[in-house]
Amino acid sequence: MVNWELLTGVSGSVRAINTARVLATIREEGPISRSELIARSGLSKATVSGIVSGLLERDSVRETGKTQPSRGRSRVLLEFNSASMTVIGVQVADDRCQIVRTDLAGSIIDRRDVTVDLNDVAEVTTTLARIIGELADRPGRTVLGVGLGVPGVVDHSGRQVIVALSHNWHDVDLAEDLEHALGLPVTLANRAKVAALGQLVTMPATAATRSGDATSDQPSPRQRTDLVYLYLGSGVVAGIVIGGRLHFGHDGHAGDLGHVMVEPSGPRCVCGTRGCLQALVGREAIVADAGVRTWDELERAVQRGDRAASRAVQRAGDRLGMALGHLVAAVSPSVIAVGGPSVSLGDPLLEAIDGAIRRCAPTAGPLDIVRADEDAPPRGAAMLWLQRAGLLA
Ligand SMILES: [Zn+2]
Repeated sequence: MVNWELLTGVSGSVRAINTARVLATIREEGPISRSELIARSGLSKATVSGIVSGLLERDSVRETGKTQPSRGRSRVLLEFNSASMTVIGVQVADDRCQIVRTDLAGSIIDRRDVTVDLNDVAEVTTTLARIIGELADRPGRTVLGVGLGVPGVVDHSGRQVIVALSHNWHDVDLAEDLEHALGLPVTLANRAKVAALGQLVTMPATAATRSGDATSDQPSPRQRTDLVYLYLGSGVVAGIVIGGRLHFGHDGHAGDLGHVMVEPSGPRCVCGTRGCLQALVGREAIVADAGVRTWDELERAVQRGDRAASRAVQRAGDRLGMALGHLVAAVSPSVIAVGGPSVSLGDPLLEAIDGAIRRCAPTAGPLDIVRADEDAPPRGAAMLWLQRAGLLA
């Protein structure tokens, strides 16, 4: 349900309903002429004309070129102006925080990068409040709200980080603290999950069907509305977008793959059980499996084609493929975008994952395994705010 009141600035009347209807038609079907709008909405010419003037004044729509019908006068076309308002998105990563200001379509207008010590949560809050405040105060369009992608487990209402073990965060009221400092509505979700929304915006709306795909008799392109963003680092989390919307599940834990057991007799995990996916394919596990001491060493060994390192990457890819095969069978995404710190291993890791998924889920439809866009996490945080405010198109 779209929150039209925020977009139109008109509330609580028949006029508000009509304004919302006209704006929805322009947003979904624009560029569109006034006479087409009259025909679609069933409203009078005078009503549509008045509503359009108000929307133009508010900058919610803009005029864009003219049609030249074969007969009669040319008509001015109207389209939704996604640049009329802005949102701020923040990705709290282990090594840096990315902060962006986007329009309502997710295009980045402004950005900041800052390094913070995540082990000091008070400093994180103060620094974020300062930088978000600076970005919001810059001249330009109204900032509606702030979305954050954060490490750890977030409560279902998107207000609090319940626990982020790696940074020793417990019950951190990040949304409330930032709202108090900024005077803007704030919402949170796990950083890997919000990145999936940001990735969706960067993908072309459709993808050509893979050539030589014998199972598909549809020549039409595939819609990019279902995708998985796979975060690979010390932990493993999937962000799942279904039908264009981020899927959380009833308790908010959809996509938490890290502690799914894939090898019952495998190594002990931080959660206390054995053989969890992240105990086998987390950064530390791949480093140990390759017989090196650090991640940097592993990267160099993989680059020069070292056999032990290549085998360790292949094994990680195989295990991920097994877990992801189930996810692919359940969700049927058109894309799996791989992000997070471990993508620094590059193509060898992506190819290992790709090959393993195809072996483990042989009946899956066409599927692209790609490296995630670098801006997907902060952009996705902005889109999260839009989704929760009812403004995601
Ligand atoms: Zn575990």
